[in-house]
Amino acid sequence: MRGSINDCVGEYEQRDIVHTVRYQGQVIVIDHVPAEVCTLCGDILFKAETVRRIEDIIRTRTAPSQLVPLYEYA
Ligand SMILES: [Zn+2]
Repeated sequence: MRGSINDCVGEYEQRDIVHTVRYQGQVIVIDHVPAEVCTLCGDILFKAETVRRIEDIIRTRTAPSQLVPLYEYA
């Protein structure tokens, strides 16, 4: 699993990240997602249980705990 995208020799460390996904045209932001992040290239790995939890959140679509400002770059 590690170094799957390249031959990076960076170390992965546990961090809470902001995970953004686009689902059916809508942007969904999930804060404080536990992930392993490469300190060199920023590659992100999720545990299988974390992926399942993210999918649950997206699928059930309960009311979000916060609304975030969304800006268009262009
Ligand atoms: Zn890396």
